[in-house]
Amino acid sequence: MKTIYNDLTSILNAENIKTNEPLSNYTFTKTGGKGDLIITPKTYQEVQNVYKYSLKHNIPTTILGNGSNLIIKDGGIRGIVLILTTMNNIHLSNNKIKAQSGAGIIEVSRFALKNSLSGLEFACGIPGSIGGALHMNAGAYGGVVSDVLQEALVLDTNGDFLTLSKNEMELDYRKSSIAQNGYLVLEATFGLTPGKFNEIKTKMDDLTFLRESKQPLEYPSCGSVFKRPPGYFAGKLIQDSGLQGKQIGGAQVSKKHAGFIVNVGSATSTDYLKLISYIQNTVNAKFGVVLEPEVKILGED
Ligand SMILES: Cc1cc2nc3c(=O)[nH]c(=O)nc-3n(C[C@H](O)[C@H](O)[C@H](O)COP(=O)(O)OP(=O)(O)OC[C@H]3O[C@@H](n4cnc5c(N)ncnc54)[C@H](O)[C@@H]3O)c2cc1C
Repeated sequence: MKTIYNDLTSILNAENIKTNEPLSNYTFTKTGGKGDLIITPKTYQEVQNVYKYSLKHNIPTTILGNGSNLIIKDGGIRGIVLILTTMNNIHLSNNKIKAQSGAGIIEVSRFALKNSLSGLEFACGIPGSIGGALHMNAGAYGGVVSDVLQEALVLDTNGDFLTLSKNEMELDYRKSSIAQNGYLVLEATFGLTPGKFNEIKTKMDDLTFLRESKQPLEYPSCGSVFKRPPGYFAGKLIQDSGLQGKQIGGAQVSKKHAGFIVNVGSATSTDYLKLISYIQNTVNAKFGVVLEPEVKILGED
């Protein structure tokens, strides 16, 4: 590990490399074990150099965005954890917004509002980064990233730069070729439509009101834990199974929105995972529906 650390200091500043750091500092659930090497690169070149180094030396590499859709197991993550939130510039040219992967999609939607551009209103409350939003094809209230995404700059699995068109990203419900192929998103371009500032703002305010009244934003969570099963709503199935308020350790099925699991005390990721299994088994026994996690589960037991 010391050799790897020393090698990495020839690629980036020591201040951008942390060792043996609790990943609970980087997840919205506030749970998760330690990461061996946490790297926060500042440039695309640094990302590529670290990535190529890890490939050459066979070091496992995990990418984190804002940590809002993750459960990192309590054993943590071995190898390199690349966190891209320090690369967060947002630029405008000709009604197109180009954003680096670490920019928050909330910030990008606010930037669109500031420039009276419509199309990203749906994203005004999604707490992910651009990289995570593309990986997940994030969406809300009838809008989805794929509605406005035009292209993305990624690193492919050889660590080479590649520009992907929207079609090449094969975006579907919480799916993308980025996730399937293990690409690392560096930057995305969104094509937006000129609109009226006040109309865009009103829509964003309405969606914020809806979100705040329906979601348990006062507690740590990872958002909706399960994907929407065809023909059903996960939250409704969980609610109708009588599971609201069900608690294992510090993880509780939210009393406000049954699709969320909130950390009401000092939950561990093990508590989260046990509660996820309990919900899956209960809903399957009652309704014969298999709930598939939307949340990404990473790391070791
Ligand atoms: C309160 C709350 C509300 C939420 N509401 C919504 C909602 O309305 N709609 C919705 O879709 N989601 C919602 N989410 C979930 C989450 O915000 C989204 O899925 C978001 O897109 C995840 O982005 P992230 O940067 O946090 O990704 P992370 O959680 O850090 O990572 C998620 C996945 O993306 C991968 N990833 C991250 N960055 C990159 C990158 N640069 N390149 C390649 N892969 C990458 C990770 O490896 C991981 O597999 C909510 C979450 C919370 C906590």
